[in-house]
Formats: sequence, structure tokens, C-alpha cells
Amino acid sequence: MSDRGEAVYAGAMLIDTHNHLDFPDFDADRSGVLARCRALGVRRQVLLGVFRDNWQRVWDLANSGDDFCTAFGLHPVYLAQHRDEHVAELRQWLARHAGHPKLCAVGEIGLDYFVPELDRDEQQRLFEAQLALAQEFELPPLLHVRRSHAAVIATLKRFRLKRAGIIHAFAGSAEEAKEYRKLGFRLGLGGAPTWPQANRLRKVVAQLPLEDIVLETDSPDMAPAMHPYGRNSPEFLPDICAALAAIRGVTPEELAAASTRNACEVFGWKDLQG
Ligand SMILES: [Zn+2]
Repeated sequence: MSDRGEAVYAGAMLIDTHNHLDFPDFDADRSGVLARCRALGVRRQVLLGVFRDNWQRVWDLANSGDDFCTAFGLHPVYLAQHRDEHVAELRQWLARHAGHPKLCAVGEIGLDYFVPELDRDEQQRLFEAQLALAQEFELPPLLHVRRSHAAVIATLKRFRLKRAGIIHAFAGSAEEAKEYRKLGFRLGLGGAPTWPQANRLRKVVAQLPLEDIVLETDSPDMAPAMHPYGRNSPEFLPDICAALAAIRGVTPEELAAASTRNACEVFGWKDLQG
């Protein structure tokens, strides 16, 4: 357990707005991770579905405790696994659990232009079909956006969603951040800007309005600089928060409070506010 995290966060509440705690990486010690998260003030975690066959696992984990909420979606990186009927099945999942407090978003969906093998037209089709579902069920979309900000921004402008969501692991420019702000989207920040060599991103993070930021880990991916080896974990969120607060020249408590407030607004949570 991180004494530093406990000392810094006495009384502060944190939300991990994006992780994959259902992944097998956590099978050996998931309950230990959870216990440490609770001790450190990480009060809620949003579990993201990435392909059809992991939705049940994500849903079961989400219902195993008060700590979780979940989203269902078809992630662009797993394009080869998705089938047309999976979009129809996603609609059934959303319809079946509509209004359930554990269902908080549609995701992880989006466009990935970094991996060359992922057909862009196919991705766009899948992305739009799922944005239409977010619109239909009035859920915020949680977006994976890699080297594809222009296409995502243009798509979102056409959709005019009733509920805006989160650009997860935001690594774009200040201008792109401004475009997302106009669309009502929040920006998810995690391990990437904690690395000293991420100069460009750290400058952007320093300038973002606090109202735009939500914290996340993307565990088990995107390890932060202070825990560089092995898997990332939601228990590192207090350390990530402290590092990002230092970049911005605010206290970790201020950043934690802003992120929690913003996340509650995105997901419509009343129980954690106050
Ligand atoms: Zn993710």
C-alpha cells in the first residue's frame, strides 16, 4: 500500500473513469487491488466493454460491488472480431439494462488511425452505429481517439448528441481540446502525461480548464511514470492525480475534487456529490 497516496488523499474521493479491471491481468489479485483502492479513496471505477464476448464478464464484475459502473461497446482495435450482428446485440444489451444504475455509458468506441491494418471506413461505420445507440439510449459515449481527432470531431458535430461523454486518454492539442469543449466533452487524463518526456502533452494539460478534466488509469495499460514496470492499476490513481496536479500547479485535492465533480456530471451521478 502506498503511504504517500494515503497521506495525500485523506478524505479526498477519486473516480477512475476508465479501466479494464475485468482483464485476466487482475485475475490473481483483483480483490486485493480493490481493497487497496478503497483504502486510498478510489471510490468508483468505470469498466469498459471492448468486444461482445467480454460484456458478460464486465457486467458480472460491475454487479459484484458498489465500486463499479460499466459501459458496453465495440472497441475499434478489435475490429477483426466484431460482426455486424454484434451491433444488434449491443442494442439488446443496452435495451435490457436501460435505466439500471450500473449501466452508465456506451464504450469503449471510437476511431484508431494509429494501427494501419484497421480499415477506416469499417471503423467509421461501426463508430456511427454505436453513437446512434448512445443517442437512442441517452447515454454518454466514452471514446478511444488515436490520431483521429479531426474525423471524430467532424462526426460528433454531425451527431449533436443529447449527452456528451469523454475523450479517453486525451493526447491531442489545445485546439482539439477546445473543439471537444464546444461539443460538451470531457477529457480523460491518466498515465501518459506523467512521463517527463511527454512535453507537448504536459503543456496542453497545464492549460486545460479544470472543468474539462476527468481522471482515469486505463488499467492494465498506460502505466504512469512513477509505476513504470508491469501492469497499471486503479490503485495508482492517487499518484497519477498528484503528478497531474503538480503539472498544473494545483493541489491534488483540488484536481481530485474537480475530476469527481466533472465525472458525476458526465454520468449523472448524484450519490457521490456533496
Ligand atoms: Zn480502454
